[in-house]
Amino acid sequence: MKSPIPDYLAEVLGDSAHAVEGAVADYIPELAKADPDRFGVALSTVDGVVYAAGDADVEFSIQSISKPFVYALALADRGLDGVLAKVGVEPSGDAFNELSLEPGTGRPRNPMINAGAIATHALAGMAGWGAAERMERVVAGLSEFAGRPLRVDEAVCASELETAHRNLALAHMLRSYQILDEEPTAVVEGYTRQCSLLVTTRDLAVMAATLANGGRQPVTGRQVISPRVARQVLSVMTTCGMYDAAGDWVTTVGIPAKSGVAGGLIGALPGQVGVATFSPRLDVHGNSVRGVHLFGRMSEDMGLHLMDVPAPSRSVLRKVRTFDDGHSTAIVFQLQGSLGFTTAEVVVRAVVESTERTDRVIFDIERLQSVDRVGRVMLLEVVRRLSLDGREVLFLDPDGVVPDPVPGDGGAVRVVRTREELRAR
Ligand code: GLN
Repeated sequence: MKSPIPDYLAEVLGDSAHAVEGAVADYIPELAKADPDRFGVALSTVDGVVYAAGDADVEFSIQSISKPFVYALALADRGLDGVLAKVGVEPSGDAFNELSLEPGTGRPRNPMINAGAIATHALAGMAGWGAAERMERVVAGLSEFAGRPLRVDEAVCASELETAHRNLALAHMLRSYQILDEEPTAVVEGYTRQCSLLVTTRDLAVMAATLANGGRQPVTGRQVISPRVARQVLSVMTTCGMYDAAGDWVTTVGIPAKSGVAGGLIGALPGQVGVATFSPRLDVHGNSVRGVHLFGRMSEDMGLHLMDVPAPSRSVLRKVRTFDDGHSTAIVFQLQGSLGFTTAEVVVRAVVESTERTDRVIFDIERLQSVDRVGRVMLLEVVRRLSLDGREVLFLDPDGVVPDPVPGDGGAVRVVRTREELRAR
């Protein structure tokens, strides 16, 4: 059977092709030469399957879509506080090339506008590194996100540098506020090279999927950045990725996103997919017209809006059974699905309500698929309290789904691996 997904992508491309408004960016002379009719889409799952349609393998410059990824590298290299000292996380509501510095500190409002992205570029790599070394870090880092070596389009870079007066002005302002502590022209040159890296729509989908996947590149399997850094980047993309269209975007499309003036657009839906589109005609905000259209359609069709409440998952409590052999009583809680705060609360409630007169409490967690940090802490705290109340507690946990099952002070749990072992006890 042929997968219906590429056919679906081809269909939505066809349906958005009528949108011919907007214009290719011409403030960078080289970009004005782009073929305005190019149109591609790609979707990468977090387990590394990539679906694509249209011009998904055509290269174009990444432009501002580099910003979230370089922000990720800066966070990885300098730590959250090191980066926050120089660049804020508040949406500016301004256009991408506004100055938008925070009164008082002089910090650019966020890393998605140019002022913030220029400051962020200077934070990639280690303190004290020269411009060349830093650039190597940026190229290598973005290549890791893409899963292949990326290269700079020298013509686009040179062309943008010839007319980079505004970015130079921003950088000089940043220098005057000591947000930059080096030569502004060198930083703008590095930032412009970063923006001139060539990518395909397919690359961008995988790069976005890496952010959606807690920093693990879904195709190469490499952990490019930590889950905490990925969370920070996705948060900033949500509030600032679409500049002065961020509110409209988040309410209608509801996917953390970033656009670039060469016509690329990415969306990263946490835990689910990375999506990318390419179409060079831009709207007044500098976002791809067809890309915005396509994302709206896909979000609606595929139910990708972040704020869509998922259907309630099956109850975490599959079965609760009590046994009484005349001498002692036991209760078995059979759990399923995943244990996080909200599902663990259901378990806590059931245990509180039904263990008043039980000698033995058994948690059959064979069917539990995952236990997150909070789920584990809550389950072990239940064990501790049951132990303190004089109950014997057992886990039937064949696959060791609860890591390190050691409750705190006064708690005790016996872990058995098989049903036979449980019956024997
Ligand atoms: N290199 C471009 C600039 O600095 C990137 C802008 C963008 O893609 N929005 O102007």
